[in-house]
Amino acid sequence: MSEFLSPKDLPAALAARAAHPDYIPVAGGTDYMVASKDRLPPPGIINLFGLGALTGVTDLDGGGVRIGACTTYATLLGDARIANTFPLLRDACREVGASQIQARGTLGGNIATSSPVGDSLPPLLALDAVICVASSAGERRVAYEDFLVGYRKIDLAADELIVAIELPAPHVGAMQHWRKVGTRRAQSISKVMMAAVAHLDDGRIADIRIALGAVADRTVRARATEDALRGSAPSEEAAKRAREALRGEITPIDDLRSTAEYRLGVAENLVRRFVLSL
Ligand SMILES: Cc1cc2nc3c(=O)[nH]c(=O)nc-3n(C[C@H](O)[C@H](O)[C@H](O)COP(=O)(O)OP(=O)(O)OC[C@H]3O[C@@H](n4cnc5c(N)ncnc54)[C@H](O)[C@@H]3O)c2cc1C
Repeated sequence: MSEFLSPKDLPAALAARAAHPDYIPVAGGTDYMVASKDRLPPPGIINLFGLGALTGVTDLDGGGVRIGACTTYATLLGDARIANTFPLLRDACREVGASQIQARGTLGGNIATSSPVGDSLPPLLALDAVICVASSAGERRVAYEDFLVGYRKIDLAADELIVAIELPAPHVGAMQHWRKVGTRRAQSISKVMMAAVAHLDDGRIADIRIALGAVADRTVRARATEDALRGSAPSEEAAKRAREALRGEITPIDDLRSTAEYRLGVAENLVRRFVLSL
């Protein structure tokens, strides 16, 4: 039987983490419960759900927000700042599971599980998220792209917790776009996801960030594709260049949900549509 710790505040949670690096921190438990049927129970669980310091959305100077790691999808969906300034994240949260999962599942849990099909992850990458991580020794901040270090691997030490996600304010007028492609419209595991943010200057793409899920061992930025588009007017010709660049930089795999060829074709179509929508 696992010991069950419910720390009352963040210092207590970090002290528990330092004292018991073999205990598993659990937030909403929606991934933990599924994984637990295939493994032995851990010696202990550190319950983080509802911890005040890790929950909710606060404003940052300059128009960005700081989201506590244990903030649920339901809370994010009810937050006007997320809806107005980060509709990309709102749209992705809407498509995570059904309302029960949205009520329990947290952003920090999605990041820590780091599945290549985690739905909030491409938006966080495209929005230039910074992950705030803490241990009893203090807090450090890591660009989300650097935090992703491999298949289901993140840059988190055994005595650390993810405490928050910071999103800088997007460029004024930036367009945000989310698309999840699955077997059906509701409650499906993604085959391909694309999150993109771009703004134009004088009719040309001044900046663009494209993040894709389910096309590699982790969520990835399509940097060569972005480079192929920066400075161009949105057009079929630019979209064609982008598709070619994308083909050279992602290597999806065949698995039980889809084929590599299908994923590549869908990813190319999603990029084309976004370019033309600009
Ligand atoms: C029926 C069902 C449908 C689902 N549908 C979707 C979907 O459509 N899209 C999708 O992306 N996901 C989906 N999921 C997966 C899951 O709900 C999400 O990944 C969710 O965000 C996990 O959050 P959680 O708080 O429940 O994580 P938990 O299960 O509590 O934790 C998951 C992992 O993260 C670690 N962890 C949690 N919080 C922290 C923290 N603050 N610091 C460090 N480590 C931490 C835990 O130790 C554990 O390893 C689904 C799951 C189920 C069961």
